[in-house]
This record gives sequence, structure tokens and C-alpha cells, in this order.
Amino acid sequence: MSFEVKEKDLLGRIGKLKTRTATVETPLLFPVINPSIQPIPPKRLNQEFGFEAVITNAYILKKRYDHKPVQLGLHRFLDFDGAIMTDSGAYQILVYGNVDVTQTEIVEYQESIGTDIATILDIPTGWKITKEEAEVTVEETLKRAKAFFKTKKREDILWVGPVQGGRHLDLVAQSAIAMGKLPFQIHALGSPTEIMESYRFDVLVDMIMTAKMNLPPERPLHLFGAGHPAMFGLAVALGCDLFDSAAYALYARENRYMTENGTWRLGELDYFPCQCPRCRSSKPKDVLAMVEKDRELFLAEHNLNVCKAELNRIKQAIRDGRLWEHMEMRARTHPALLTALKKVKVYEGFIEKHSPTVKRSGLFFFDASDLARPEIVHYRNQLRLHYAPPKTARVLLLMPQSRGKPFHKTREYQKVRQILQRLSPEIVDKIHVCFYEVPFGVVPIELDEVYPLSQHEAAMPPDTETRDYVAGRVEEYVKNTRYSSVVLLNDQQNWGNAIRNSLAKACSTSKKSFDLVNLNLKRQKAILTRLETVLKKRQSD
Ligand SMILES: [Zn+2]
Repeated sequence: MSFEVKEKDLLGRIGKLKTRTATVETPLLFPVINPSIQPIPPKRLNQEFGFEAVITNAYILKKRYDHKPVQLGLHRFLDFDGAIMTDSGAYQILVYGNVDVTQTEIVEYQESIGTDIATILDIPTGWKITKEEAEVTVEETLKRAKAFFKTKKREDILWVGPVQGGRHLDLVAQSAIAMGKLPFQIHALGSPTEIMESYRFDVLVDMIMTAKMNLPPERPLHLFGAGHPAMFGLAVALGCDLFDSAAYALYARENRYMTENGTWRLGELDYFPCQCPRCRSSKPKDVLAMVEKDRELFLAEHNLNVCKAELNRIKQAIRDGRLWEHMEMRARTHPALLTALKKVKVYEGFIEKHSPTVKRSGLFFFDASDLARPEIVHYRNQLRLHYAPPKTARVLLLMPQSRGKPFHKTREYQKVRQILQRLSPEIVDKIHVCFYEVPFGVVPIELDEVYPLSQHEAAMPPDTETRDYVAGRVEEYVKNTRYSSVVLLNDQQNWGNAIRNSLAKACSTSKKSFDLVNLNLKRQKAILTRLETVLKKRQSD
């Protein structure tokens, strides 16, 4: 196996990919090299910028340099020691409609130049085409993939099997299943460039997830044309291991300055928000005054530094179990990215199944868009399917969350405990304390130290959607358990009447008695007395 996963978070993975000439670490970005207009020599990309791999276009090499890369070997031709991937000209098909090379020729050419990772000549689906046209691209790509295995000669090259179908998700699924059955070492999501250019990151989520759910999980997935660092986190979280970027150079040519939070025109900047070796010693106005060639080089180098730094942050986030927080942070930089984050909810079940839910760090909960987190989905399923209250429990005493955790050690709970101690032992046995809280819903007291029920921080008060979510969990819990009565300590300040209303509904449908004690900080003593009265009244239940 050429790919070994070392660490995981969400569907993102730090892995080792072994190629013919170099072993590289994922998530991995391949800067695109165009030998005829390359602003930064490939050797510098490795030695100064730390890029372990580059990608270049075999079709362009063949057209422009023909035998030279064959004679020298690709690594010597480019003067690059790391891993080299070659694309096949499929992108040129998308742009120009056709290329004057056959699949067999381009496969042979990639073998003869000694690339590390190579691509078959697939037919990209593109964006603005009908379903019938999309079907043709999927079928033709599959036909070429099958034919390819009859003609390939070398066994030491990793071959990429592209998945097509575009925004037609049933076609993407069909393509992924069929390509996944063939012995490719790597898969790629074909030509999402136009979708990214039009900021339809939500459609991209659908496409990546559909491919991911239907491909063999042990093979790395390459996302073609994902050039902007602001969306790397999202793509990695959804399981993309490899990326290529021409954007660093294309943006530089258009005076565009990348940051992990978006793009600026050089002329708009008075200050550089970056301390890379280039920006550290320059001001935007000095760079604007440079001759075009120098300016382009400056921007290309800065853009690469930004991409590399963002990938490093993403890898650290995977190690820390904080990839969700990272994706969430970047989603706030553009509404289209937040729309995409919201779309992730559709796939929460699949992500939960393939993501670690116990981590070395706690989690931060900001708002309803975080409800799709695997830890939350996992807890909801566990409570629903595998939890039952203690056998003696007849009365559910539902308390609001407190700032401190675990809840059973807080001052708020200790006060309630004093009341419970004053009651007769028979009734205490019947009372089961649970907490309602953001974002997990109902937390039974005996579980409150189980990860991550004490290892998280949530912003309060909850937004309406989160409130409704927790109220829904409370309702579900009460309906599914066999208490005869429920007593709610109602925290109106944070929850309004959301919890009260859903409890009243749940108790009336499942024929449980329901008592309400409203919390009011100014009248603590009176509240506790009232709680005691209510609990005593339940003694007879
Ligand atoms: Zn910089």
C-alpha cells in the first residue's frame, strides 16, 4: 500500500504517500509548474518554500518540449528532487474542447518521462452542461480508464483515476463506484474549477462528499484546481488529501495578494497582513512601484508562503482534533464558505462514522452551524440507542447547565443536593438528575464526566436553532424514558420558554406529570423551598 494514514480528524488525514522517488506527507499541495513561464524555479519551491511535490502538465510538455524530458528524465528536466505529478491535458479538453493527442500517447509519454504520479486522459464534465452531456463524459472516462489498464507498462507509477459527473450527483456516485473498482492508487475529483470560481462551495461539498462516500476510503483523493487557502480547511475536512494550485502564479500575474481569509488587490493594501520573508521587509506601495516581473515574483512567493502556512495550520489542527474549529473560523471569511459549512450537515452521519469522536482536546461550540460536529451527532446516537436511566428512577429532575463542569461538582448542583439530602431515602432513590445544555441536549448526571460532556465551551445564550435543537433532544429523551414525572428547573434567561414548551408537549403525549420551577437569581431561597415541596409531592408517585 502506497498510502498510510498517521492521524485523523473529521475526514481529514495526515498520511504518508510513497511515490517512486519520494515519500510525501498529506494533506499535500502541488504548486503547478509551467516550465515556459515559471516565475519560481521548482528547486526553490522545495528548498526555500518546503513544497515536497509539484505538478506539471504532460500534454504541454509533450507539445512544447517533446523528447527533451524523455531524454533527461522529468526530475532532471524540471530540476526538482521531490515527487512530481503530471496532468494529462484533460483541463485543456475542458477549455478548448479537444486535444490532439490520444490517451495511449499521453500514457506512454508519462511513463517515458518517469513521472511519480500520472493521470489518464479523462473527459472533464464541466459546469454548464446538460445531464445527457455529463453522462457521456462519465461513460467515456470509464471506457478510457478500462482501456488504460490494458496498455500501461510501468508498475512503479501511481495512477490517478478521475471521478466525473459535475454537479449531477447521481453521476458522480456512479462514476466513483465504477472508478473505485479499478486498481488506481489515487482518485481525483474532476474539474471543479468553474464551481470554485463561481464560489459555489456548497455544490463542491456535495460533489466531494458524493465521491468520498462511493470511493475506496484507503485511496487518497485529489481535488483538481483548489487553489485558494481560504477553502483548504473545508476540502481537507471533507477528505481531500491532495491539491494542486496554479492560483499562486495566476493571482500574482493579476496583482492579487492572497491571505487565508480572502484576497486583496495589491493597490487596496496599505499594510501587509503577513510576516513572510517577502512582506516582512516591504510595504505595498514599494511593491506596486516595482517592474512587472519583480512584482509578479514578489506576489507569487508571498502567495506560496500563505498556502504553505495554511496547510501547516490545518495539519496542526488535525493533530489537535480541532479541524472543525479551523473550518468554522475560515467559514466566517466569506458567506459562500459559511453556506458550504451549513451544507456539511447533510453528511453528518457519514462524517461521524469515519471520524474520531474522542480527542485530546475539548471542543468549542459557537452556534448552530456546529451542530453537525461528529462529537454531537455521536452523543445523540449513543444516548438514543444505548442509554437507560437507573432502574429506580421515577422522577426526572431536569436542571440547566452551569458555567462550571462537571455539573455534579458545581455550586448550583450542590444546593439542589442539600435539598435532596433532606428528603426521605425512598424518594431520593426515585429522583434522577439530568442537565439540559448546549450543545449536547440532555446530560444524565452520572455521565457528566464522560468525554466531551465536561470538555467543551459553548457560547451563551444559544441561538434559536440551537435552542430548538436542545429542546428537541429534551423532548425525545422524555418520550423515550419511563419516568412517571418530570420536574423542570426553568432557566428563562438563557432558554426563554423553549425547554418548558417541549417538555410540556412530551409529558402530555407520554402521560407523565410535569412540574415547573422558574429560576430567579434574586429569590434563590424561595425557589429551593418550592423545589422541595414539588419533590415531596412526588413522593407518592
Ligand atoms: Zn507575505
